[in-house]
Amino acid sequence: MEQYIKEIINPGDENGNEMVIKFQLPSGLEIFGLPTRNFYGGHWDLGPTWNYAVMADKPFLVDSGRFGQGKNLIRMMESAGVSAEDLGFVLISHSHEDHDGGLAELVESTRLKVKAHAIYDLLIRRYPENAPPGHKQAFPAKCWHCPMPESFWSKNCLEYHRVLHNLVIDKINDGENPLGPHIRTFHLPGHSPDCLAVLLGEEAILVGDIVLPDISPWPTREAMFAEVAEIIKPGYTDPEALFGLQRYIKSLKKLAEIAVQHPDILILPAHRFYYNNRWNGIQLADRINELIRHHIERCAAILEILGSRPKTAEEIAQEHFDAKLLEGFGSMMAANEAISHCELLIACGDVTAIDGNKYAATGKTDFKVYIESLRPDY
Ligand SMILES: [Zn+2]
Ligand SMILES: [Zn+2]
Repeated sequence: MEQYIKEIINPGDENGNEMVIKFQLPSGLEIFGLPTRNFYGGHWDLGPTWNYAVMADKPFLVDSGRFGQGKNLIRMMESAGVSAEDLGFVLISHSHEDHDGGLAELVESTRLKVKAHAIYDLLIRRYPENAPPGHKQAFPAKCWHCPMPESFWSKNCLEYHRVLHNLVIDKINDGENPLGPHIRTFHLPGHSPDCLAVLLGEEAILVGDIVLPDISPWPTREAMFAEVAEIIKPGYTDPEALFGLQRYIKSLKKLAEIAVQHPDILILPAHRFYYNNRWNGIQLADRINELIRHHIERCAAILEILGSRPKTAEEIAQEHFDAKLLEGFGSMMAANEAISHCELLIACGDVTAIDGNKYAATGKTDFKVYIESLRPDY
């Protein structure tokens, strides 16, 4: 991928934080990579969020960094000679805070229009009458599933929640949609219900967090659907259409079809593009196969852990993950991973849920055939 690097405007640090870089595609299309700092460090570190300014006929920005990074992102663009007035809109790849956290600040100081998937427009609002009881009444619907303790959200999230609620969103629909001449979006849910990938002609694709180098994007849980079902109906009534590991794998397979049609395409991921002083170029078809294999292996590991005794997601996570990964908030992320895989194992009949919060092996091992037979459905 290094043949696409036209100019390094700011080298940033060893993990790419604050780098400003100009890519140029064979057609001459220029794209600026603008990785902004995240604060999730430690053993689950994603590295910075790679935001991109795509200098198409109508230039646009993809993503806005985490909360507090909006103005910094504008400064980074300006150092590359791109002013906010040059941009037609900012597109949000999905509703995670490391991608839309800087959005309100960006919109306030530039008046940029915002485009995102239609689900995003619904989930960034507050619905006190539908919210879980207690402190989540004032959370946007997309944060109702968040397991973080008060010590975390009271410090990091309240202002973010408040500013999100008021944003005006130009909505992008399901499936494949034109965004400009030769530019198309694809709705590829699973990591988040509103994930979008953006295909730039035959040359490049912005994949957000759907495919990452180095790390496997975590899937949502199908159970998250029930929390927001009232908000997103009547448009969406099937949990598996938006949430869970099965949906994520179907989205990967849709991307694999795009990879077949465009084998030499440049992949622009939202994390770890540059990390530990090196570039992580992605070969899309190979990386998708690796990710699917990773989930097959994890299902096998979970079945082995379950053995002959039912276990909770926390017990599975404790046995499967390194102690380091279970420190602090890591234990919740690990349990989330275990539940996503158990949901798929239940769907294929290899696991049953018992006693409300435990999983038991049924003795069947159909998961591999099941995962391999999943097909993208548009
Ligand atoms: Zn994400
Ligand atoms: Zn992310």
